[in-house]
Amino acid sequence: MKDAVFMVTMAAALASCGGGNQSPRPTAPAPSPPAAPAEAEPVLQAVGEANINPQNKQAPNAALPAQHEPIMEPKQDADAKIVKTDAEWRAQLTPEEYHILRRKGTERPFTGKFDHHFKDGTYTCKGCGTPLFLSGTKYNSGCGWPAFYDSMKGTIDTVRDTSHGMIRIEITCKKCGGHLGHIFDDGPNPTGLRYCVNSGSMGFIPAEKKPGASK
Ligand SMILES: [Zn+2]
Repeated sequence: MKDAVFMVTMAAALASCGGGNQSPRPTAPAPSPPAAPAEAEPVLQAVGEANINPQNKQAPNAALPAQHEPIMEPKQDADAKIVKTDAEWRAQLTPEEYHILRRKGTERPFTGKFDHHFKDGTYTCKGCGTPLFLSGTKYNSGCGWPAFYDSMKGTIDTVRDTSHGMIRIEITCKKCGGHLGHIFDDGPNPTGLRYCVNSGSMGFIPAEKKPGASK
């Protein structure tokens, strides 16, 4: 019996020892969990940057088409109006030009620089540079202001003007709305019209001398 008891005891001792040696093994991988959080933090940072970068990239991408559209609009809409603030017009124009173009003023007769100006070229709007009249349509009306019997097509608007106790037709630049003068029906042929225009509302581009003109 004693032998049997020893055998059981030894077996139990071996089993306990074996169990004691085996138990730490499963717990050995335990140190690995601390590494997981360490890896998770960079992942979160990477995600954070990824969320920020797309926004930064999308903003310029979204702005590019927006920049292209305004560039295209003027080309597509040649009739687009020029709109400026009163301060911008004041800064751009001389006091006399501003008074005429933006305040519907009238220069004194026989004082304008273009009243007796008959060089070849194109008369433009002083406000926006739009070509308005060709020198070939200018004539000496004797009224004291530059006079034309025709204007370049699609450049001028007409407005009924009842100021100063008169019924007249005001003419303005179609592009910028600047006041030019008035139009009357006592002009010469072929139109019978007289565009009576302030010198101060116009610029002038001389006709270029053709290089081959002497030939
Ligand atoms: Zn204009």
